[in-house]
Amino acid sequence: MKRNPDRILVTHAGALPRSEELRDLIFARADGKPYDAAALSAMLRRDVAAVVKKQIACGIDVVNDGELGKTNFTNYVRERVSGFEHRERTPGEYRTQHSISARDEMEFAEYFKQVGGGFRNRSPRLHLVCNQELRYVGQAALDEDLANFRAALEGVDVAGAFLNANTPGTIEHWLSNEHYPDEEAFLYAIAECMRVEYNAIVAAGFDLHVDNPDLPDAWQMYPDMTVAEYRDYAKLRVAVLNHALRDIPREKVTLHCCWGSFHGPHKFDIPLEHIADIIFSVKAGRYSIEASNPAHEHEWSVFKDVKIPDGAMLIPGVVGHCTNFIENPRLVAERLERYANLVGKENVMAGTDCGIGPRVGHENICWAKFESMRDGAKLATSALWRRNAHAERERTAHAHRSRHAVRRLAAPLLATRCALERAAAVRTDPNQTHGRRSGALSRRRRPAGTARPHLPAPRRRSQLRPL
Ligand SMILES: [Zn+2]
Repeated sequence: MKRNPDRILVTHAGALPRSEELRDLIFARADGKPYDAAALSAMLRRDVAAVVKKQIACGIDVVNDGELGKTNFTNYVRERVSGFEHRERTPGEYRTQHSISARDEMEFAEYFKQVGGGFRNRSPRLHLVCNQELRYVGQAALDEDLANFRAALEGVDVAGAFLNANTPGTIEHWLSNEHYPDEEAFLYAIAECMRVEYNAIVAAGFDLHVDNPDLPDAWQMYPDMTVAEYRDYAKLRVAVLNHALRDIPREKVTLHCCWGSFHGPHKFDIPLEHIADIIFSVKAGRYSIEASNPAHEHEWSVFKDVKIPDGAMLIPGVVGHCTNFIENPRLVAERLERYANLVGKENVMAGTDCGIGPRVGHENICWAKFESMRDGAKLATSALWRRNAHAERERTAHAHRSRHAVRRLAAPLLATRCALERAAAVRTDPNQTHGRRSGALSRRRRPAGTARPHLPAPRRRSQLRPL
């Protein structure tokens, strides 16, 4: 992926709109229902190509496949990992431990009773339990993703291309462990599975975009944890993720963090300031962070104190999924400029809070938000680079004014010095007795064939240098 050459580049977090037709086939495959496999393959190939072109048309510089071949950013792993079984959940058993809105639910119980908490589960009574060794079994689906995306990129010009994959900590959210001796062994087993996918994406020439909502949103899952306890919890998950990324250069990796992205209060989300250092300890070259909604927009100021890793880029969400309102490009530009002023304009890209395709009211809202992001990035580019050019002009003009002032001050002194040098030269010339006038006379009196005495020439204005 390119860095900002002379403008703010534009990307997004992942999931993009898909047709109802494709959605039905994808979910039929995920649920083990009968479906037309040949029709699904053909449709995926066609739609991935179309979604890449649509991104480019909307001004996205760094594109992906829209995650079209996946049910959603987290559930797809259920089709790609083996070693667990579905169980019927007893009432209340799974709910309090695994809801990513558990802290909010304590204050807004009635609201969550109406709308459901966190991500709504299509099969809320089913519980997934790891009861044997976990293995990666998604090679065929992964190969299809890689081939479709490669074909879609033929003949198009983009600044970067990425594919999304999930993190061990997020997979742990919906998978209980009865096989491994402890949570650490369990997490590392998930990491070894996902490492297959990470390495394959990078080996295919794409950037890897790891979706890591668990890093902020697990805080909601454990209402009794203190911040110190939670930091230890998060550090273990980051160590596991870094273990899975160990063979991949960090510049090939983008880490995406959001606070679960469910439509709800988010009153008790953990503040960014408590986990920013842990986020930036992930071995990544770019960090995509939710930053444009009422619960988290104010956290731009965290970057007054927190430095992003050397050589890294920050991708704040500048449009989001929390509203169907289209963000005005001027607002997008303001958001980008705030970050650019803190971390450097070369180190900021425009991004989305999360994958917005399935989370806004209509696909056209998603595309309109992308266009607004493109236009806002242009405005920010214009302001940031123009400001830079203006500052350079100011510096040049100041230097010119300074040189001019010194010359003005130095001119009389130089003139005096020249006069003194000429007078001294005349005094040492035996044929001269009185300065310039005497010198003129001496030329007339000089015997033929004798050399003219050396006199310093008057200095031109351009030769005057400060004393
Ligand atoms: Zn997200």
